[in-house]
Amino acid sequence: MSAVGMHIEANVDRVRTTVAEAAARAGRDPSRITIVAATKFVQADRLQQAYRAGLRAFGENRLQEAQRKMSALSHLADIHWHFIGRLQRRKLKAITGRFALIHSVESVEQAELINRWAAERGIQQPILLEVNVGQEPTKGGFSPSALWDALSDLARLTHVAIQGLMTVPPIAATPEAARPFFRALRSLAEAVNRAARLPRALQELSMGMSHDYPVAIEEGATIVRIGTAIFGPRQSV
Ligand SMILES: *Cc1c(COP(=O)(O)O)cnc(C)c1O
Repeated sequence: MSAVGMHIEANVDRVRTTVAEAAARAGRDPSRITIVAATKFVQADRLQQAYRAGLRAFGENRLQEAQRKMSALSHLADIHWHFIGRLQRRKLKAITGRFALIHSVESVEQAELINRWAAERGIQQPILLEVNVGQEPTKGGFSPSALWDALSDLARLTHVAIQGLMTVPPIAATPEAARPFFRALRSLAEAVNRAARLPRALQELSMGMSHDYPVAIEEGATIVRIGTAIFGPRQSV
């Protein structure tokens, strides 16, 4: 195996250990926490190294880049592709049905379009609702109050399965500074579940990246999205 490959394997092992330790601190079962490898700008051969190290969920930010890697790795039948990037309206038709989970739905309009294309394909598309917990003007996602307002429209969509919430908190100096935002996402999901306004409970919380995933796990993350800690710094293109 190449030096790069060994590097990735060691990184995956380290992330797994860190996930297990954070879960133990929170009294949680580590097997209920999914590591999604965030693979924007990472070449397919390096994804394959992460696959060999045991990862099965891969998160892409752009459709075309994802499609290239899907065909390069089509022999790995048990890979789950996730869409974690900003959604563009004209790409929704091609995204629907091709990803195990779409993390980044940020409006009723997007959910309705995914619902429409999923109906056309005769499927139900699993999605998460992205919440802008930091209420940052430059960032996408439902504000918490917009999410409450959207629930009745979302509840009518029978071809999307709303599995939970996702967030990217404001950039913070320390992992600890992100904790209130993770806690806020969890509280929001719990409040929505208590109100029982959606056909199913929100069970997934996609939160935590390379610099703060242990804190996110302590606060209830069920999915962490990790790039740099597995693949090293990104070479932007
Ligand atoms: C790139 C990306 C990640 C991973 O970020 P790292 O800091 O490299 O772990 C997670 N989530 C989203 C939405 C991303 O775009």
